[in-house]
Amino acid sequence: MHTSARIASSRPLATTAMHGRVESLRAEGVPVIDFSIAISHFPAPRPVLDAVAHAVERERTMPYTSVVGALDVRARLADKLRKENGIDADVGEIIVTNGAKQALYEALYTITDPGDSVLVFKPHWPAYVATSQLLGLRPILVELPDAITPQLLDSLETPKVVIINNPHNPTGKVYTPVELEHIRAWVERIGARVIVDESYEHLIFDGAHTSLAALCDWRKIGVITIFSASQSYAMMGWRVGFALAPAEVVNAMQTLQGPITAAAPHLSQVAADVAFATGAPTEMMADYRQRRDLAVRLFAEVPWIVMHAPASGPYLWGDVRSLTMDTVGFAERLIEEKKVAIMPGDALGVPGFIRLGYISDDVATLRDGIRRIIEFGDAYKAV
Ligand code: PMP
Repeated sequence: MHTSARIASSRPLATTAMHGRVESLRAEGVPVIDFSIAISHFPAPRPVLDAVAHAVERERTMPYTSVVGALDVRARLADKLRKENGIDADVGEIIVTNGAKQALYEALYTITDPGDSVLVFKPHWPAYVATSQLLGLRPILVELPDAITPQLLDSLETPKVVIINNPHNPTGKVYTPVELEHIRAWVERIGARVIVDESYEHLIFDGAHTSLAALCDWRKIGVITIFSASQSYAMMGWRVGFALAPAEVVNAMQTLQGPITAAAPHLSQVAADVAFATGAPTEMMADYRQRRDLAVRLFAEVPWIVMHAPASGPYLWGDVRSLTMDTVGFAERLIEEKKVAIMPGDALGVPGFIRLGYISDDVATLRDGIRRIIEFGDAYKAV
């Protein structure tokens, strides 16, 4: 059947495509180790599971809530923002969404027109660019520096919207208050809007997370902050997150969300209500830290990869430029020959690097997968 010209210019997300490939190989009985995305091996926090079980027993019928999310849930999310993030927010400035992805799409749809430019630091989460392309926007990709300086910001083309991912997938960078202040001063001067994706807010090993919106008059500047239960609470498949935005933006996002999905699923709202009140997942983070340290140690002596311990997040970001192999080819051959899936940096805007999600399986599988990657690279190097 004929598909539209509009969709013809877009491609499936590279991450989703690789994950689909892993699933079909597994369905054929091929055991694949999947480092291509980060799916926590942890369940959702116990209080979340209890609250959902209780709601199913007690309520039985699950009503639609208002499109923006149940009022009492949003009230508690406003509490979370005040207590955890130091952000002053009103319930009318919060919209519960089917994950960060929906919030991102709705936010961009609401504050841009086709042809507008969106500044994204690379390496970048693929969805920022894919969503911009779906909406006919023009991504401006800028290499993420170790430190954001006023000089760097002043040298950039003026975008309509800036997307900041703090903490950052895949490098693990945690923006400092000083860097956020530089960004604030710059966007205020050039009149750009800001979307800050804080989906990894609790996955911090080193440093501390600061919300841009806590440091400024976010309503006046036009800051939209996105949160997700997916990574911070190991609730990827629950598909729930929320956005904090000026009330007129929330109203516009609601206009878009109403005919598409209506509210986020009732049960996921019950789950989010409890999850976002549980605070930092300390047991999970202790486990992630051990895995991160183990993985970095295993790669430490490997001459063809440079892998630093990330300050946050569920990914390792390795520099394999010394291999002089194109990284799409690296990923292709690795899954073919060693049955290990990774993301080539190309999908995140930076060829020559590879991304590994290290939180999905047991530790023995993590070791096994890394051993296979090292074998693969060593053999290539030896040729
Ligand atoms: N933002 C970033 C940068 C991510 O990497 C992820 C997880 N892949 C998310 C958000 C989570 O998105 P969602 O809430 O739609 O699962």
